[in-house]
Amino acid sequence: MGELSAIEVRTRLLAWYDANRRDLPWRRTADPYRILVAEYLLQRTRIVSGTPYYERFLARFPSIEELAAASLDDVLAVWEGLGFYGRARNLRAAAQAIVERHGGRVPESFAELAALPGMGPYTAGAVASIAFGVPVPAVDGNVTRVIARLFRIPDDVTRAAAQRRILEIAARLVSPERPGAFNQSMMELGATVCTPSSPSCTRCPLERLCLAHLAGEEDWFPVSRRPRASPLVPVVFGLVAADGRVLLVRRPSGQLLGGLWSLPGGDRARKDERAALADAVRRQAGIEVDIGARWSRVSQTFSHRKWSGSIYRCTPRRMPEPSDSVRWVPREEALRLPLVPFHREAIEALAGLESFERAN
Ligand code: SF4
Repeated sequence: MGELSAIEVRTRLLAWYDANRRDLPWRRTADPYRILVAEYLLQRTRIVSGTPYYERFLARFPSIEELAAASLDDVLAVWEGLGFYGRARNLRAAAQAIVERHGGRVPESFAELAALPGMGPYTAGAVASIAFGVPVPAVDGNVTRVIARLFRIPDDVTRAAAQRRILEIAARLVSPERPGAFNQSMMELGATVCTPSSPSCTRCPLERLCLAHLAGEEDWFPVSRRPRASPLVPVVFGLVAADGRVLLVRRPSGQLLGGLWSLPGGDRARKDERAALADAVRRQAGIEVDIGARWSRVSQTFSHRKWSGSIYRCTPRRMPEPSDSVRWVPREEALRLPLVPFHREAIEALAGLESFERAN
């Protein structure tokens, strides 16, 4: 598992899940049939759209026998409006197979579940772990994203090799004692915190462990060969400040946000954020700086690109020489200039922090 401890990931996720899980109808039951219906119904469907269908479906077909005996038209009539009607056909066929092969009891083993119509490895893993406590993983898109970020998986997750690796990691992470809760905690984290764009890392129980987050690269994972709507551009900026002053540089006209005053930095060609920032400050303001902790994350979407990276707190080793494109100004004066908007927020946050520190 490399640098990450499976036990720590598991413990943190389960504690977070116990405190934060959403109260959903299929989480209030231990009935394998109801859990099975939920897993079929929620494939490629948002929870908010799926919930009323789940309740309607179970009111109409309260048992596996009733579903197995129903006509396809009756099943489709309840499913109507939800889309992906193959799932309804498969669910009915699975109910028939369970009645014929398993005497009407949902089978417990992963292999028997996986042999039912329409049961991929994800659904079989979810039903086996949630309904029967079998310690197997359940890897859907949410779980793939969480693991790809947590372990900073560099491979294309649409390829079989990366999917195998993610499945192996998920299998090692899954809790032997509470596999169902663990699998749901991963899915819940992916759905509510580790979302596809702008994940809420400060609310995440894995914040201090996550390799992508520690590198400031959440937006870069999962890696996918599918082109993004707005290409990601890695950036880094420095909040260079001392004695109530802050360093600003003017963005060249013709560039994105051209003409606005900005913290030094910008697109980075070098992989290492700190080295790229030191280069940029030297080039743009002619000074060396000591680079401190990361001040904030950058995740800004423009019409044709997305900036992703970090702002670091820096201290100048000597004062910069002012020029047409370099200013070393008191913070209040900086805030009166036309600024890159999220740089204004960074400078205001610094002012807020310093006045808090003075007051305490
Ligand atoms: S720290 Fe951020 S990127 Fe990492 S798992 Fe948590 S939400 Fe996802």
